[in-house]
Amino acid sequence: MTTSTFPRVWDLDVFFPGGSASPELKAHIENLKPKFEGLKQLVDSLSVPTSTEAAPAILAILDSIKDVLMNLSQAGAVLSCLTAQDTTDREALLLQGQLSGLAANISPILESFHQKLGKIEQATFDELVNDTDLNEFQFILTEWREQSKESLSEEEEALISALGVDGYSSWGQMYSMLISDIKVDVVVDGETKTLSVGQANNLASHKDRAVRKAAFDALETVFTEREEFFAKTLNHLAGFRLAVYKKRGWESVTKEPLEINRMKQETIDAMWGAITSRKATFANYLTHKAKLLGTEKLDWFDFDAPVTDSTATLDYQQGAEFILKHFGRFGKEMESFARTAFEDGWIEAEDRDNKRPGGFCTGMPLSEQSRIFMTYSGSMSNVSTLAHELGHAFHTYALRPVHPLNRRYAMNVAETASTFAEMIVADAAVEEATNEQEKIALLEDKIQRSVAFFMNIHARYLFETRFYEERKNGVVSTKRINEIMEQAQVEAHAGGLGETHPHFWASKMHFYITGVPFYNFPYTFGYLFSLSIYAKAKEEGTGFEEKYMALLRDTAVMTVEDLAMKHLGEDITKEDFWLKGIALCEKDVVEFIALTSK
Ligand SMILES: [Zn+2]
Repeated sequence: MTTSTFPRVWDLDVFFPGGSASPELKAHIENLKPKFEGLKQLVDSLSVPTSTEAAPAILAILDSIKDVLMNLSQAGAVLSCLTAQDTTDREALLLQGQLSGLAANISPILESFHQKLGKIEQATFDELVNDTDLNEFQFILTEWREQSKESLSEEEEALISALGVDGYSSWGQMYSMLISDIKVDVVVDGETKTLSVGQANNLASHKDRAVRKAAFDALETVFTEREEFFAKTLNHLAGFRLAVYKKRGWESVTKEPLEINRMKQETIDAMWGAITSRKATFANYLTHKAKLLGTEKLDWFDFDAPVTDSTATLDYQQGAEFILKHFGRFGKEMESFARTAFEDGWIEAEDRDNKRPGGFCTGMPLSEQSRIFMTYSGSMSNVSTLAHELGHAFHTYALRPVHPLNRRYAMNVAETASTFAEMIVADAAVEEATNEQEKIALLEDKIQRSVAFFMNIHARYLFETRFYEERKNGVVSTKRINEIMEQAQVEAHAGGLGETHPHFWASKMHFYITGVPFYNFPYTFGYLFSLSIYAKAKEEGTGFEEKYMALLRDTAVMTVEDLAMKHLGEDITKEDFWLKGIALCEKDVVEFIALTSK
């Protein structure tokens, strides 16, 4: 098949012509205000329903929420694309600030609506969601109702939100200030360089061990000097969160993150239990890698050290063709979807100045399209990233037949479609590797992902649960925070770790995200959940695509336990389920050790 060359620069003008100077974009943002007002009036005029006669009024509110959210997301998505493609676009940054100010108005309106749902008599509520047109929204209406029942009164919750601006989320901003203020000097190739924390962390994959160690030591030193500032920030952020939980009568610190991810504690426990029971394989890998690097045990700063100097590259067109070929082996719909994305300018891949680092995928709900952002420089890891983001876009595409309010999936399932797509490509790359060094590098790339999800993320989870437990009894000393972190690392790496990183809690922004508590286990969940779907897909061949899309369509209307039972026939509260995905990762380790032991 012949294919024309795919564009490397995305098309944003189809949404609002003229970029951040677009009069249409400004008008769109202006038009949000009356939409908010309209929604507020509908919510204010709703009295607590006492019969099914209230169904049309509730439907009108849902329709208005849909309208507000879609318009808000469309503007937010376009602005994040504009600021990512050119970090110097001041006009876009200004509009972004204006939009987030506006967006803050929506949560009190929604909260008020949720409170009204919470006050409906159970029998009336059951009739409303079973016997009227509200049936389609049973899951989210029940979720909102339950959430409001577990919160305090509307006035108290409003007070918490108001106090949280300075007392809670500002600690997250304080963290950003503290971390961006840090500069360290590291000698790289005979030259002293002054680096930010991010830049110093990037040296973790430098080929020279002395450079990796110097960067790590410099960071540990500066975090030790400033540890009291970070400890105070973490203690107060956690203290606020715990005080709110206590007032609401919530005992477990994982209650909120579990609800956000629509999952049970048993499921997390089964997942970590299964992982822990198979850690020996990954600890072996760590020790084996240490030997390859000429050391006894793998030190923290050697995790990302390269073990080969393989540098396989594919230009953008080749990378795209590679993805299309392998998506096509899984299913026709995924291939043709990705072809549209490549052909129609959905992807920004050009390597040029002033672009933000990293990659993302964002949906444009009003246009039923997505946009993917990344910088493609030709490495296999770029091809993986591209496949990953296309996976996110495919998830959005699969959800098209579903009502927009039933498309709001959580973080743990968000990474399912992306990891799945990435896995198709990563596996194919290993299979098609043309020489052994390349194969070793690609395999290691896969294993490092497993190690990150099974060990590094586990350490974060252990640290956070233990720190929060101790924080319930008062401020935790800096010395103790370091101890909890080190213990968690040693335990999570199951004897495979040499030198620890005691100030990891200060270097990772994830512990300071106030919007989403416990920003860790959903990553591991998404990874293993998608692996088990991938295993099923391999078993069933191209016929699986339809089932896969049906699963994706249900990702925002049921708990993850129900989702797995309905579409995979699996009980994810049991370790057996998780062990199947882990077994796939163990195969990579066995193959890697065999290839590098010759
Ligand atoms: Zn992702």
